[in-house]
Amino acid sequence: MAKADVEAIKKAKDGLDVWDDIFRYAKLGYDAIPPDDLQRFRWYGIYPQKPNVGHFMLRVKVPGGDLNVEQLRTIASITRDFARGFADITTRQNFQFHWLTIQDLPTVFERLHAVGLTTTGACGDITRNIAGCPVSGLDPQELYDTRPLIREVTNYFLGNKEFSDLPRKYKIVISGCSIHCAQPQINDVGLQAVRRFHRGKSEVGFHLYVGGGLSTQPHFAKKLDVFIKPEQVLEVCIAVTKIFRDDGYRQRRNHARLKFLVADWGPERFREELIKRLGWTPEPAVPVLEPIGPVQQDHLGVHRQKQADRYWVGTSVLTGRVTDAQLFAAADIAERYCEGNIRTTNQQNLLFPNIKFEDLNAAIQAIQEAGFLVEASEFHKGAVCCTGNEFCNLAITETKHRLREIISYLESRMVWDEPIRIHLNGCPNSCGQHHIGDIGLQGCLARLNDGTQVEAYDVCLGGRLGGDAKFVRPISRKVPADKVKYAIENLLVSFRCTRKEGESFGQ
Ligand code: SF4
Repeated sequence: MAKADVEAIKKAKDGLDVWDDIFRYAKLGYDAIPPDDLQRFRWYGIYPQKPNVGHFMLRVKVPGGDLNVEQLRTIASITRDFARGFADITTRQNFQFHWLTIQDLPTVFERLHAVGLTTTGACGDITRNIAGCPVSGLDPQELYDTRPLIREVTNYFLGNKEFSDLPRKYKIVISGCSIHCAQPQINDVGLQAVRRFHRGKSEVGFHLYVGGGLSTQPHFAKKLDVFIKPEQVLEVCIAVTKIFRDDGYRQRRNHARLKFLVADWGPERFREELIKRLGWTPEPAVPVLEPIGPVQQDHLGVHRQKQADRYWVGTSVLTGRVTDAQLFAAADIAERYCEGNIRTTNQQNLLFPNIKFEDLNAAIQAIQEAGFLVEASEFHKGAVCCTGNEFCNLAITETKHRLREIISYLESRMVWDEPIRIHLNGCPNSCGQHHIGDIGLQGCLARLNDGTQVEAYDVCLGGRLGGDAKFVRPISRKVPADKVKYAIENLLVSFRCTRKEGESFGQ
Protein backbone atom coordinates (compact mmCIF):
# COMPACT_ATOMS: atom_id res chain seq x y z
CA MET A 1 0.00 0.00 0.00
CA ALA A 2 1.35 3.43 -0.90
CA LYS A 3 2.26 5.31 2.26
CA ALA A 4 0.26 8.40 1.32
CA ASP A 5 -2.93 6.31 1.25
CA VAL A 6 -3.05 5.95 5.01
CA GLU A 7 -4.23 9.53 5.47
CA ALA A 8 -7.04 8.94 2.95
CA ILE A 9 -8.00 5.69 4.66
CA LYS A 10 -8.25 7.45 8.03
CA LYS A 11 -10.34 10.26 6.57
CA ALA A 12 -12.74 7.79 4.93
CA LYS A 13 -13.30 5.90 8.17
CA ASP A 14 -11.68 6.29 11.57
CA GLY A 15 -9.39 3.46 12.61
CA LEU A 16 -11.46 2.86 15.75
CA ASP A 17 -14.63 2.43 13.63
CA VAL A 18 -13.42 -0.92 12.31
CA TRP A 19 -14.35 -2.68 15.58
CA ASP A 20 -17.72 -4.12 14.49
CA ASP A 21 -16.24 -5.11 11.13
CA ILE A 22 -13.66 -7.32 12.83
CA PHE A 23 -16.52 -9.46 14.16
CA ARG A 24 -18.23 -9.47 10.76
CA TYR A 25 -15.03 -10.62 9.02
CA ALA A 26 -14.60 -13.28 11.69
CA LYS A 27 -17.75 -14.86 10.24
CA LEU A 28 -16.96 -14.12 6.58
CA GLY A 29 -13.31 -15.18 6.66
CA TYR A 30 -9.93 -13.61 5.88
CA ASP A 31 -10.51 -13.18 2.16
CA ALA A 32 -13.47 -10.86 2.83
CA ILE A 33 -11.27 -8.22 4.54
CA PRO A 34 -10.60 -5.27 2.19
CA PRO A 35 -7.10 -3.72 2.32
CA ASP A 36 -8.37 -0.45 3.87
CA ASP A 37 -9.93 -2.24 6.82
CA LEU A 38 -6.83 -4.40 7.15
CA GLN A 39 -4.94 -1.12 7.63
CA ARG A 40 -7.48 0.02 10.23
CA PHE A 41 -7.10 -3.28 12.14
CA ARG A 42 -3.88 -1.77 13.53
CA TRP A 43 -5.95 0.52 15.75
CA TYR A 44 -6.89 -2.65 17.64
CA GLY A 45 -3.35 -4.00 17.76
CA ILE A 46 -3.78 -6.37 14.81
CA TYR A 47 -1.08 -6.63 12.12
CA PRO A 48 -1.00 -8.97 9.14
CA GLN A 49 1.75 -11.44 9.80
CA LYS A 50 4.31 -12.43 7.21
CA PRO A 51 3.72 -14.10 4.75
CA ASN A 52 0.20 -12.57 4.79
CA VAL A 53 -1.79 -15.70 4.16
CA GLY A 54 -4.36 -15.34 6.87
CA HIS A 55 -2.48 -15.05 10.16
CA PHE A 56 -2.15 -12.04 12.41
CA MET A 57 0.11 -10.65 15.07
CA LEU A 58 -1.86 -9.21 18.00
CA ARG A 59 -0.36 -6.77 20.51
CA VAL A 60 -1.84 -6.42 24.00
CA LYS A 61 -1.15 -3.25 25.95
CA VAL A 62 0.24 -3.43 29.48
CA PRO A 63 0.28 0.16 30.82
CA GLY A 64 3.43 0.68 32.86
CA GLY A 65 4.14 -3.04 32.54
CA ASP A 66 1.88 -3.71 35.54
CA LEU A 67 -0.13 -6.97 35.39
CA ASN A 68 -2.18 -9.03 37.82
CA VAL A 69 -2.40 -12.80 38.00
CA GLU A 70 -5.73 -13.10 36.17
CA GLN A 71 -4.36 -10.99 33.35
CA LEU A 72 -1.19 -13.06 33.09
CA ARG A 73 -3.17 -16.32 33.11
CA THR A 74 -5.32 -14.94 30.32
CA ILE A 75 -2.19 -14.03 28.31
CA ALA A 76 -0.95 -17.58 28.98
CA SER A 77 -4.24 -19.17 27.89
CA ILE A 78 -4.34 -17.19 24.63
CA THR A 79 -0.71 -18.13 24.00
CA ARG A 80 -1.59 -21.81 24.48
CA ASP A 81 -4.94 -21.88 22.69
CA PHE A 82 -4.36 -19.56 19.72
CA ALA A 83 -0.69 -18.52 19.39
CA ARG A 84 1.07 -21.86 18.93
CA GLY A 85 2.49 -21.81 22.44
CA PHE A 86 4.66 -18.68 22.58
CA ALA A 87 4.40 -14.92 23.03
CA ASP A 88 6.87 -12.02 22.95
CA ILE A 89 7.43 -9.26 25.50
CA THR A 90 8.09 -6.05 23.56
CA THR A 91 10.27 -2.99 24.12
CA ARG A 92 7.10 -1.13 25.15
CA GLN A 93 6.16 -3.59 27.90
CA ASN A 94 3.42 -5.18 25.74
CA PHE A 95 2.78 -8.81 24.92
CA GLN A 96 2.60 -9.90 21.29
CA PHE A 97 0.95 -13.04 19.96
CA HIS A 98 1.48 -14.59 16.56
CA TRP A 99 -0.45 -17.02 14.37
CA LEU A 100 -3.93 -15.75 15.25
CA THR A 101 -6.67 -16.08 12.63
CA ILE A 102 -9.59 -13.72 12.05
CA GLN A 103 -11.88 -16.42 13.44
CA ASP A 104 -9.88 -16.45 16.71
CA LEU A 105 -10.17 -12.73 17.39
CA PRO A 106 -13.69 -12.49 18.94
CA THR A 107 -12.84 -15.10 21.58
CA VAL A 108 -9.43 -13.57 22.20
CA PHE A 109 -10.95 -10.11 22.69
CA GLU A 110 -13.62 -11.53 24.98
CA ARG A 111 -10.98 -13.17 27.18
CA LEU A 112 -8.80 -10.04 27.28
CA HIS A 113 -11.66 -7.68 28.09
CA ALA A 114 -12.93 -9.97 30.86
CA VAL A 115 -9.71 -9.27 32.81
CA GLY A 116 -9.35 -5.59 31.94
CA LEU A 117 -6.79 -5.96 29.15
CA THR A 118 -7.13 -4.25 25.79
CA THR A 119 -5.47 -4.10 22.40
CA THR A 120 -7.14 -0.78 21.53
CA GLY A 121 -4.43 1.66 20.51
CA ALA A 122 -1.66 -0.94 20.60
CA CYS A 123 -0.80 -0.03 16.97
CA GLY A 124 -1.97 2.61 14.48
CA ASP A 125 -1.71 6.41 14.42
CA ILE A 126 -2.83 6.77 18.00
CA THR A 127 -1.49 6.93 21.55
CA ARG A 128 0.32 3.64 22.11
CA ASN A 129 0.84 1.78 25.36
CA ILE A 130 1.93 4.26 28.02
CA ALA A 131 5.18 2.99 29.43
CA GLY A 132 6.73 3.47 32.83
CA CYS A 133 9.30 2.12 35.23
CA PRO A 134 8.60 -1.58 35.94
CA VAL A 135 9.36 -1.15 39.66
CA SER A 136 6.98 1.76 40.23
CA GLY A 137 5.71 1.65 43.77
CA LEU A 138 8.46 -0.78 44.79
CA ASP A 139 11.79 0.97 44.33
CA PRO A 140 13.16 2.68 47.47
CA GLN A 141 14.98 5.19 45.24
CA GLU A 142 12.02 6.15 43.10
CA LEU A 143 10.90 9.75 43.12
CA TYR A 144 7.24 9.13 42.36
CA ASP A 145 4.94 6.14 41.93
CA THR A 146 3.54 6.96 38.50
CA ARG A 147 1.10 4.04 38.19
CA PRO A 148 -2.01 6.14 39.04
CA LEU A 149 -0.94 8.78 36.49
CA ILE A 150 -0.31 6.12 33.84
CA ARG A 151 -3.79 4.72 34.47
CA GLU A 152 -5.36 8.19 34.33
CA VAL A 153 -3.68 9.15 31.04
CA THR A 154 -4.29 5.68 29.55
CA ASN A 155 -8.00 5.82 30.38
CA TYR A 156 -8.36 9.31 28.98
CA PHE A 157 -6.92 8.44 25.56
CA LEU A 158 -8.33 4.88 25.36
CA GLY A 159 -10.82 4.71 22.50
CA ASN A 160 -11.06 8.53 22.51
CA LYS A 161 -12.00 9.55 18.98
CA GLU A 162 -10.79 13.09 19.49
CA PHE A 163 -7.30 11.60 19.32
CA SER A 164 -7.65 8.51 17.13
CA ASP A 165 -6.42 10.19 13.92
CA LEU A 166 -2.95 11.43 14.84
CA PRO A 167 -0.40 12.01 12.06
CA ARG A 168 1.55 8.92 13.11
CA LYS A 169 2.17 6.61 16.02
CA TYR A 170 2.56 8.43 19.33
CA LYS A 171 4.40 7.21 22.40
CA ILE A 172 4.20 8.55 25.96
CA VAL A 173 6.20 7.52 29.02
CA ILE A 174 5.60 8.70 32.56
CA SER A 175 8.47 7.74 34.76
CA GLY A 176 9.21 8.24 38.43
CA CYS A 177 12.33 6.11 38.37
CA SER A 178 15.67 7.55 39.50
CA ILE A 179 17.62 5.88 36.68
CA HIS A 180 15.34 6.98 33.82
CA CYS A 181 14.83 3.39 32.69
CA ALA A 182 11.57 4.24 30.92
CA GLN A 183 13.58 6.17 28.30
CA PRO A 184 11.92 9.61 28.21
CA GLN A 185 14.61 10.78 25.77
CA ILE A 186 13.42 8.52 22.95
CA ASN A 187 9.65 8.89 23.28
CA ASP A 188 7.33 11.40 21.64
CA VAL A 189 6.43 12.59 25.13
CA GLY A 190 8.55 11.81 28.18
CA LEU A 191 7.54 12.92 31.64
CA GLN A 192 10.45 12.38 34.00
CA ALA A 193 10.07 12.87 37.75
CA VAL A 194 12.36 15.43 39.39
CA ARG A 195 12.56 16.82 42.90
CA ARG A 196 12.70 20.52 43.72
CA PHE A 197 12.94 22.50 46.92
CA HIS A 198 10.29 25.12 46.79
CA ARG A 199 9.11 27.50 49.47
CA GLY A 200 10.98 25.53 52.09
CA LYS A 201 9.75 22.09 51.16
CA SER A 202 10.71 19.21 48.93
CA GLU A 203 8.30 18.55 46.08
CA VAL A 204 8.28 16.10 43.17
CA GLY A 205 7.04 17.06 39.73
CA PHE A 206 7.99 16.23 36.17
CA HIS A 207 10.24 17.57 33.48
CA LEU A 208 8.75 17.34 30.02
CA TYR A 209 10.62 15.98 27.00
CA VAL A 210 9.01 16.08 23.56
CA GLY A 211 9.90 14.84 20.10
CA GLY A 212 12.09 11.81 20.77
CA GLY A 213 11.97 8.68 18.66
CA LEU A 214 14.22 6.16 16.92
CA SER A 215 13.09 4.53 13.67
CA THR A 216 15.20 5.35 10.59
CA GLN A 217 15.91 8.94 11.65
CA PRO A 218 16.60 8.95 15.40
CA HIS A 219 16.02 12.09 17.47
CA PHE A 220 16.53 12.72 21.15
CA ALA A 221 13.57 14.46 22.75
CA LYS A 222 13.98 18.14 23.61
CA LYS A 223 13.49 19.18 27.20
CA LEU A 224 11.02 22.04 27.60
CA ASP A 225 11.57 24.63 30.29
CA VAL A 226 8.63 23.52 32.44
CA PHE A 227 7.99 21.88 35.79
CA ILE A 228 4.75 19.91 35.68
CA LYS A 229 2.98 19.02 38.90
CA PRO A 230 1.46 15.52 39.13
CA GLU A 231 -2.08 16.92 39.01
CA GLN A 232 -1.17 18.77 35.77
CA VAL A 233 0.17 15.71 33.91
CA LEU A 234 -3.06 14.72 32.14
CA GLU A 235 -3.82 18.26 31.03
CA VAL A 236 -0.29 18.65 29.66
CA CYS A 237 -0.49 15.30 27.82
CA ILE A 238 -3.77 16.41 26.25
CA ALA A 239 -2.31 19.76 25.18
CA VAL A 240 0.82 18.20 23.63
CA THR A 241 -1.33 15.63 21.81
CA LYS A 242 -3.57 18.38 20.42
CA ILE A 243 -0.50 20.17 19.06
CA PHE A 244 0.63 16.96 17.37
CA ARG A 245 -2.86 16.21 16.04
CA ASP A 246 -3.43 19.69 14.65
CA ASP A 247 0.07 20.87 13.67
CA GLY A 248 1.92 17.60 13.03
CA TYR A 249 2.97 16.79 9.49
CA ARG A 250 0.78 14.47 7.41
CA GLN A 251 2.24 14.70 3.92
CA ARG A 252 4.83 11.93 4.23
CA ARG A 253 4.58 8.94 6.59
CA ASN A 254 8.33 8.94 7.18
CA HIS A 255 8.24 12.61 8.18
CA ALA A 256 5.12 12.60 10.35
CA ARG A 257 6.29 11.73 13.87
CA LEU A 258 6.22 14.51 16.45
CA LYS A 259 10.03 14.63 16.39
CA PHE A 260 10.01 16.36 13.00
CA LEU A 261 7.70 19.13 14.20
CA VAL A 262 9.77 19.62 17.36
CA ALA A 263 12.99 19.69 15.33
CA ASP A 264 11.54 22.44 13.10
CA TRP A 265 9.93 24.49 15.86
CA GLY A 266 12.58 24.09 18.55
CA PRO A 267 11.77 23.75 22.27
CA GLU A 268 11.02 27.47 22.82
CA ARG A 269 8.31 27.68 20.19
CA PHE A 270 6.88 24.35 21.27
CA ARG A 271 6.66 25.65 24.84
CA GLU A 272 4.87 28.78 23.63
CA GLU A 273 2.33 26.66 21.74
CA LEU A 274 1.89 24.47 24.80
CA ILE A 275 1.15 27.52 26.95
CA LYS A 276 -1.40 28.72 24.39
CA ARG A 277 -3.14 25.34 24.44
CA LEU A 278 -3.08 25.13 28.22
CA GLY A 279 -4.20 28.69 28.82
CA TRP A 280 -1.76 28.90 31.75
CA THR A 281 2.00 28.97 32.12
CA PRO A 282 3.78 26.08 33.82
CA GLU A 283 6.51 26.94 36.28
CA PRO A 284 10.07 26.74 34.92
CA ALA A 285 12.17 23.57 34.98
CA VAL A 286 14.43 23.09 37.98
CA PRO A 287 18.06 22.09 38.38
CA VAL A 288 18.13 18.31 38.62
CA LEU A 289 19.38 17.41 42.08
CA GLU A 290 19.63 13.66 41.57
CA PRO A 291 22.40 12.68 39.15
CA ILE A 292 21.14 11.05 35.97
CA GLY A 293 22.31 7.50 35.65
CA PRO A 294 23.49 4.90 35.52
CA VAL A 295 20.77 4.66 32.92
CA GLN A 296 19.27 1.84 30.89
CA GLN A 297 19.35 -0.65 33.70
CA ASP A 298 16.52 -3.06 33.93
CA HIS A 299 16.19 -3.62 37.67
CA LEU A 300 17.26 -7.25 37.26
CA GLY A 301 18.34 -9.51 40.11
CA VAL A 302 17.13 -9.48 43.74
CA HIS A 303 16.33 -6.06 45.26
CA ARG A 304 14.87 -4.87 48.53
CA GLN A 305 11.64 -2.90 48.06
CA LYS A 306 10.55 0.25 49.84
CA GLN A 307 8.00 -1.90 51.70
CA ALA A 308 9.43 -3.57 54.80
CA ASP A 309 10.38 -7.23 54.28
CA ARG A 310 9.55 -7.27 50.59
CA TYR A 311 11.83 -7.98 47.61
CA TRP A 312 11.51 -8.03 43.86
CA VAL A 313 13.28 -10.51 41.61
CA GLY A 314 14.06 -9.28 38.11
CA THR A 315 14.63 -12.04 35.54
CA SER A 316 16.27 -11.91 32.15
CA VAL A 317 14.12 -13.22 29.27
CA LEU A 318 16.38 -13.50 26.24
CA THR A 319 14.70 -11.91 23.17
CA GLY A 320 11.50 -11.49 25.21
CA ARG A 321 10.10 -14.80 24.01
CA VAL A 322 8.17 -16.89 26.53
CA THR A 323 6.16 -20.09 26.26
CA ASP A 324 2.63 -20.69 27.49
CA ALA A 325 4.03 -23.07 30.14
CA GLN A 326 6.38 -20.35 31.39
CA LEU A 327 3.54 -17.82 31.53
CA PHE A 328 1.28 -20.19 33.48
CA ALA A 329 4.16 -20.93 35.85
CA ALA A 330 4.88 -17.19 36.25
CA ALA A 331 1.22 -16.60 37.11
CA ASP A 332 1.31 -19.38 39.74
CA ILE A 333 4.46 -17.85 41.25
CA ALA A 334 2.91 -14.38 41.24
CA GLU A 335 -0.17 -15.73 42.98
CA ARG A 336 1.78 -17.64 45.61
CA TYR A 337 4.63 -15.24 46.35
CA CYS A 338 4.03 -11.84 44.69
CA GLU A 339 0.66 -10.69 46.05
CA GLY A 340 -0.77 -11.39 42.60
CA ASN A 341 1.40 -8.86 40.78
CA ILE A 342 3.98 -9.17 37.98
CA ARG A 343 5.77 -6.60 35.80
CA THR A 344 7.08 -6.45 32.22
CA THR A 345 10.06 -4.26 31.30
CA ASN A 346 10.97 -2.33 28.18
CA GLN A 347 14.02 -4.55 27.81
CA GLN A 348 11.70 -7.53 27.30
CA ASN A 349 12.09 -8.99 30.79
CA LEU A 350 9.82 -10.05 33.68
CA LEU A 351 9.95 -8.92 37.30
CA PHE A 352 8.43 -10.75 40.27
CA PRO A 353 7.59 -8.23 43.05
CA ASN A 354 6.43 -8.29 46.68
CA ILE A 355 8.25 -11.44 47.79
CA LYS A 356 8.68 -11.87 51.56
CA PHE A 357 12.22 -12.50 52.79
CA GLU A 358 11.15 -15.87 54.24
CA ASP A 359 9.82 -16.91 50.79
CA LEU A 360 12.74 -15.60 48.76
CA ASN A 361 14.64 -18.87 48.32
CA ALA A 362 11.52 -20.85 47.44
CA ALA A 363 10.33 -18.15 45.03
CA ILE A 364 13.72 -17.97 43.29
CA GLN A 365 13.75 -21.74 42.94
CA ALA A 366 10.27 -21.70 41.41
CA ILE A 367 11.23 -18.83 39.09
CA GLN A 368 14.31 -20.71 37.90
CA GLU A 369 12.37 -23.95 37.47
CA ALA A 370 10.00 -22.01 35.22
CA GLY A 371 12.96 -21.19 32.98
CA PHE A 372 13.51 -17.55 33.96
CA LEU A 373 17.10 -16.54 34.69
CA VAL A 374 17.70 -14.69 37.95
CA GLU A 375 21.47 -14.74 37.54
CA ALA A 376 22.19 -14.29 33.88
CA SER A 377 25.37 -13.20 32.13
CA GLU A 378 25.80 -9.52 31.32
CA PHE A 379 25.38 -10.44 27.63
CA HIS A 380 22.05 -12.11 28.38
CA LYS A 381 20.78 -9.27 30.58
CA GLY A 382 21.57 -6.54 28.07
CA ALA A 383 20.26 -8.27 24.94
CA VAL A 384 17.26 -6.79 23.13
CA CYS A 385 15.85 -7.54 19.70
CA CYS A 386 12.86 -6.93 17.46
CA THR A 387 10.49 -9.40 15.80
CA GLY A 388 12.48 -9.85 12.59
CA ASN A 389 11.62 -11.72 9.41
CA GLU A 390 10.00 -14.62 11.20
CA PHE A 391 6.81 -12.52 11.30
CA CYS A 392 7.48 -8.89 10.36
CA ASN A 393 6.64 -7.76 6.84
CA LEU A 394 9.30 -5.04 6.86
CA ALA A 395 12.15 -7.21 8.05
CA ILE A 396 15.28 -7.89 6.09
CA THR A 397 16.82 -10.40 8.51
CA GLU A 398 15.93 -12.99 11.12
CA THR A 399 16.56 -11.69 14.63
CA LYS A 400 15.58 -13.80 17.63
CA HIS A 401 17.46 -17.00 16.76
CA ARG A 402 20.43 -14.92 15.62
CA LEU A 403 20.61 -12.99 18.90
CA ARG A 404 20.39 -16.23 20.89
CA GLU A 405 23.25 -17.65 18.84
CA ILE A 406 25.38 -14.52 19.39
CA ILE A 407 24.77 -14.43 23.15
CA SER A 408 25.40 -18.11 23.59
CA TYR A 409 28.65 -17.87 21.60
CA LEU A 410 29.90 -14.89 23.62
CA GLU A 411 29.00 -16.64 26.89
CA SER A 412 31.02 -19.65 25.79
CA ARG A 413 34.05 -17.52 24.88
CA MET A 414 34.50 -15.08 27.74
CA VAL A 415 33.39 -13.90 31.15
CA TRP A 416 32.22 -10.31 30.88
CA ASP A 417 31.53 -8.64 34.19
CA GLU A 418 30.24 -5.17 33.32
CA PRO A 419 26.90 -4.12 31.82
CA ILE A 420 26.77 -4.38 28.04
CA ARG A 421 23.73 -3.83 25.86
CA ILE A 422 23.57 -5.61 22.52
CA HIS A 423 20.51 -4.48 20.52
CA LEU A 424 19.64 -6.24 17.28
CA ASN A 425 17.16 -5.15 14.59
CA GLY A 426 15.94 -6.84 11.45
CA CYS A 427 15.80 -3.57 9.47
CA PRO A 428 16.57 0.15 9.94
CA ASN A 429 13.28 0.81 11.78
CA SER A 430 14.81 0.21 15.19
CA CYS A 431 11.97 -1.53 17.04
CA GLY A 432 14.81 -3.30 18.89
CA GLN A 433 16.38 0.11 19.57
CA HIS A 434 19.78 -0.56 17.98
CA HIS A 435 20.47 3.20 17.95
CA ILE A 436 20.97 3.20 21.73
CA GLY A 437 22.84 -0.08 22.21
CA ASP A 438 26.44 -0.25 23.36
CA ILE A 439 26.54 -2.52 20.32
CA GLY A 440 23.76 -1.92 17.79
CA LEU A 441 23.17 -4.38 14.95
CA GLN A 442 21.06 -3.28 12.01
CA GLY A 443 19.85 -5.94 9.59
CA CYS A 444 20.71 -5.63 5.89
CA LEU A 445 21.75 -7.80 2.95
CA ALA A 446 25.27 -8.43 1.66
CA ARG A 447 26.63 -10.05 -1.46
CA LEU A 448 29.42 -12.58 -1.02
CA ASN A 449 32.36 -12.91 -3.41
CA ASP A 450 30.58 -15.72 -5.26
CA GLY A 451 27.58 -13.45 -5.85
CA THR A 452 25.30 -15.08 -3.27
CA GLN A 453 23.11 -12.67 -1.32
CA VAL A 454 23.06 -13.31 2.44
CA GLU A 455 21.59 -11.75 5.57
CA ALA A 456 24.03 -9.34 7.18
CA TYR A 457 24.32 -6.67 9.85
CA ASP A 458 25.81 -3.23 10.09
CA VAL A 459 27.75 -3.32 13.35
CA CYS A 460 27.47 -0.05 15.27
CA LEU A 461 28.91 1.17 18.56
CA GLY A 462 28.42 3.71 21.30
CA GLY A 463 24.70 4.35 21.78
CA ARG A 464 23.40 5.45 25.19
CA LEU A 465 20.79 7.49 27.00
CA GLY A 466 21.28 9.79 29.96
CA GLY A 467 23.28 12.95 30.49
CA ASP A 468 25.68 12.23 27.61
CA ALA A 469 23.15 10.60 25.28
CA LYS A 470 24.45 9.47 21.90
CA PHE A 471 23.23 7.36 19.03
CA VAL A 472 25.44 4.60 17.69
CA ARG A 473 27.97 5.08 14.91
CA PRO A 474 28.55 2.31 12.37
CA ILE A 475 31.98 0.73 12.44
CA SER A 476 31.55 -2.25 10.10
CA ARG A 477 29.03 -2.50 7.29
CA LYS A 478 27.36 -5.62 5.91
CA VAL A 479 28.95 -8.24 8.14
CA PRO A 480 27.39 -11.60 7.12
CA ALA A 481 24.94 -12.63 9.84
CA ASP A 482 26.78 -15.84 10.76
CA LYS A 483 30.01 -13.86 11.25
CA VAL A 484 28.58 -11.17 13.54
CA LYS A 485 29.39 -13.11 16.69
CA TYR A 486 33.08 -13.19 15.72
CA ALA A 487 33.06 -9.46 14.95
CA ILE A 488 31.65 -8.73 18.41
CA GLU A 489 34.12 -11.07 20.08
CA ASN A 490 36.99 -9.28 18.32
CA LEU A 491 35.65 -5.92 19.43
CA LEU A 492 35.41 -6.99 23.05
CA VAL A 493 38.85 -8.61 23.09
CA SER A 494 40.36 -5.55 21.50
CA PHE A 495 38.64 -3.29 24.04
CA ARG A 496 40.05 -5.38 26.89
CA CYS A 497 43.55 -5.15 25.47
CA THR A 498 43.48 -1.39 25.01
CA ARG A 499 41.15 -0.07 27.72
CA LYS A 500 42.31 2.74 29.92
CA GLU A 501 41.95 2.52 33.67
CA GLY A 502 38.37 3.09 34.76
CA GLU A 503 37.06 3.02 31.19
CA SER A 504 33.86 1.06 30.57
CA PHE A 505 32.79 -0.44 27.26
CA GLY A 506 29.85 1.91 27.04
CA GLN A 507 32.05 5.03 27.20
FE1 SF4 B 1 10.18 -5.32 11.75
FE2 SF4 B 1 12.19 -3.68 11.29
FE3 SF4 B 1 10.62 -3.30 13.43
FE4 SF4 B 1 12.30 -5.34 13.36
S1 SF4 B 1 12.90 -3.16 13.35
S2 SF4 B 1 10.14 -5.44 13.98
S3 SF4 B 1 12.27 -5.92 11.25
S4 SF4 B 1 10.01 -3.12 11.31
